[in-house]
This record gives sequence, structure tokens and C-alpha cells, in this order.
Amino acid sequence: MKQKLIRFMNGRYGVDSLNRFLLGLALVLILLSIFVRISVFGVSLLNLLGLAALVYAYFRMLSRNVQKRYREYVRFIAVRNKVTGFFKNKIWYLKQSRQYHIYKCPGCGQKIRIPRGKGRIEISCPKCRHKFIKKS
Ligand SMILES: [Zn+2]
Repeated sequence: MKQKLIRFMNGRYGVDSLNRFLLGLALVLILLSIFVRISVFGVSLLNLLGLAALVYAYFRMLSRNVQKRYREYVRFIAVRNKVTGFFKNKIWYLKQSRQYHIYKCPGCGQKIRIPRGKGRIEISCPKCRHKFIKKS
């Protein structure tokens, strides 16, 4: 049985992280379709999309066009990195804004990060040496 499977998969693309993502997406969409009913021509849209993701994942896994599948994988990783980078940036900014105030220097417009909760303080711009008073 195992030998048969190995022979069957020989020359085929197999599983990569795009396939794992598609399988996860399919599962989420199909589960969601139980609770969220969006119908198009009497067919559950989420269920349909979930099935499409499932079919695509299996199509990629069994595909013999390894180069094309690999190019899809590279594109997927690029998009994924962009998305995770965007959220990491947002989270970093949120964490910063909890601990710091960002002030703009009235002299030169330079953004200055000041720790919160220090009361009234005189800020001296590191760029143009302009001094101004703010409550932090
Ligand atoms: Zn300045």
C-alpha cells in the first residue's frame, strides 16, 4: 500500500505550505458555512469557496507541473510575508503608543517619541534644538 502510494506520488508536486494553507482555509470556510449563510443561486457561497480551496489544494498536490506549482508557492510566500509584515508593524505601533506619546516638533516637524506619564516636561528637539513644553 505504502509502495503504491510512493509510486503514485512519484513526479507529482506534493504538499507545501500553500497547500496546508488551502486545506486550513477550506476547513474554516466549510465550518463557517454552517453558521453564516450566504447563498448564491441556492448554493452556500462559503461552502462552495471551501470546496474550491479543497479541490485546488488536491490539484496542486497531485500536479505533475512542479515548476508552475513552485512559482505559485513563491508568490504565496511573498504575499504572506507582506501580510504578516503589515500586522507586525501595526502591533508594534500599538505597543509603542501605549508607552509613548509621539509629538511633532513645532520648529522642524521632526517626530519625537516621549514616554507617557511624566507630567509637564520640556522637550528639546534632537534635530533643530527647538524647545517646547508638553504634558506626557
Ligand atoms: Zn525640531
